[in-house]
Amino acid sequence: MADNYNSRIIGDEAAEAVHPKTVPDGAVWFEREDITDADRPYVASLMNDSMALWSQDADPQLLSEGWYAVYDWQLTFAGATGSCSAAGDESARLLADQAASAAKDTAMPVSKAGHSLTAYAVPLHKRSDDRIFGFFVYVTPEGTEAGSLYANLCARHFRSCFYRRFEQVYVKDLLIQQERTERELGRRDGLFLAVKRLYDQIDVTSVLTEMLYSLEQLYPDSAVHLYLSQDHLNGDPRVKPLVFKNTSHDIVAKAFLEGRPVNERERSGKIRLAMPMTGKQAAYGVLCITMDEELWDEADLPAFTLLADTAGSAFENAKLYEQSNLLINELRLINELTKRLNQSLRLKEIFQFVTKELLGVFNADHCCVLQLNREKNQFIVMSSNIPDMSSEQFSPEYGFCGIVYRTKEPLIISDYWNTRIVTSKLMDNTGSRSLIASPIIVDGAVAGVILVTHKTANFFSYDNYKLLQVMSTHIGLAITNASLHAEVRRMVITDNLTGLHARHYLNEQIQSRQRKDPLGALILVDIDHFKRINDTFGHQVGDRILVQVSGIIRSSIRNGDIAARWGGEELAVYLPGIKADQAYRIAERIRSQVEKETDPVVTVSCGVSEWTYENDKISVESLFYRADMALYEAKHRGRNCIFVGQTG
Ligand code: GH3
Ligand code: MG
Ligand code: MG
Repeated sequence: MADNYNSRIIGDEAAEAVHPKTVPDGAVWFEREDITDADRPYVASLMNDSMALWSQDADPQLLSEGWYAVYDWQLTFAGATGSCSAAGDESARLLADQAASAAKDTAMPVSKAGHSLTAYAVPLHKRSDDRIFGFFVYVTPEGTEAGSLYANLCARHFRSCFYRRFEQVYVKDLLIQQERTERELGRRDGLFLAVKRLYDQIDVTSVLTEMLYSLEQLYPDSAVHLYLSQDHLNGDPRVKPLVFKNTSHDIVAKAFLEGRPVNERERSGKIRLAMPMTGKQAAYGVLCITMDEELWDEADLPAFTLLADTAGSAFENAKLYEQSNLLINELRLINELTKRLNQSLRLKEIFQFVTKELLGVFNADHCCVLQLNREKNQFIVMSSNIPDMSSEQFSPEYGFCGIVYRTKEPLIISDYWNTRIVTSKLMDNTGSRSLIASPIIVDGAVAGVILVTHKTANFFSYDNYKLLQVMSTHIGLAITNASLHAEVRRMVITDNLTGLHARHYLNEQIQSRQRKDPLGALILVDIDHFKRINDTFGHQVGDRILVQVSGIIRSSIRNGDIAARWGGEELAVYLPGIKADQAYRIAERIRSQVEKETDPVVTVSCGVSEWTYENDKISVESLFYRADMALYEAKHRGRNCIFVGQTG
């Protein structure tokens, strides 16, 4: 039986199912609402509030003549009003407890008498079903039939006060709920937009700007900072480098190291929240937001986390994109550089090209390329955009060149004025503060050094430094190529025995001269009776004579003249811009020197020919033919003499 009654008390799920809610038609929507099981913990305090409301409504005269108490469905005492002076409040309470308990047992109104008091307990039924949510007890000194009726009326009045209060609270709750939902919706919209905008950004600076903007939109009146572990400061004062000082006190460092959000209450009372900004590959920094405590809502944390995560991924993507772009540009640059370098086989050209290219690539103020001259043991400036420095020489120990030479490693100086590890004429003369330098390595040894500078401190990035290193490897290869090429070319155009030019080189040179110059002369020199020399002294001595005669020829001519070995013991000299009579004098000098200086003594005969632009037919063959004819004539005239052939 008791079980049955108990089932009519709220909080019983089975009973809830058995008693469908009966809602009066036409009621305001929230009037249909009722306390639910979820409200159970609040019923007592709601009853207490309602008791205050009820006592305001109730007749003061009647209130002073009785004691009124309320209990929740578990018989928890919820509040009381009025007075019961006759027997004292304590006995009234005791009797009220008993009456409420009896009403609970019977689920019916009951009365209890004792201590010259009567207590009337009336169960309070819910409005949507008839389950009991509490008890109203009226304690009076005189127990009468009217007492029970009065208690029932009071209970009904109390119940309506209870529901009035419930509605107030319910509506207030609803409004709060609605406000929160609206705020969250707004934030979610903002967040969605922010996330979408973040993914639209392709470069790192835009990602950072977008994220800071979004956060300030979502959390106005708060201070937002971003601490980055990577070398990316874009001039925005809100973006700072992430430094680890005292990690136990620093929530930014803590958030970064532990990879989770950390918050703290500042002395000013504000809340400071630090969120790691993490991508798939690494953590990139910490987002930090400081806001008033009223603005802070724990429920915002997921939104904040989502934004930080999105920012982390967007940052990572942008960073990867930036890196791949850099890499592509670097490859393109190196490719172009290598192509251009390989086109040029002249060292001087290579150095000049490198200087021009490096100034452009690094947006640098100055560039200086030095080559190590091993004979002099000096670095010589081969190319530079600083006029004062051209052809300067430095000892291999001096300045930054010295460091690079010693270490064979590239170098980066962020601020020469602060670090001045060596004295540098280049840095001092140009007022430079930033420097990147790299060795040019040829065959494993430092063959040169490249120095690139800028007047601003911290100008060059680590990427610049790495790029210069890669570029100098290619420059080194180009220099090796050019040197090898020069060596091969020298071997090809030089006669082994005499050190004079080879015949084909002389031909080429005369041909090219005849295209440019107005005139020129050729001397053919033939050793007299050389066969006899060979026969008498042997071939080796013959060879030595040949070398001696070649030396005499070389010392008898000027720089622009070209001496070559034309045949076995026939030598030739081409004299650009020289007429036959002048050529004769030079031939004569050669002839007399040979006669004087050779050992064993030999003599030479010379044939001279000339050409001028006025000739009908200008050719190498004609010039040689006429010189050969003249030589023949000189031999014919008794040798050890010179004959000048006819012009044209
Ligand atoms: P000339 O010119 O006065 O008429 O008499 P020649 O003996 O020099 O006559 P010719 O031009 O016929 O002979 C050239 C000789 O030079 C033939 C060869 O033995 C010698 N000869 C040619 N080339 C070399 C060489 O590279 N070394 C040596 N030792 N002898 C050479
Ligand atoms: Mg000969
Ligand atoms: Mg001869």
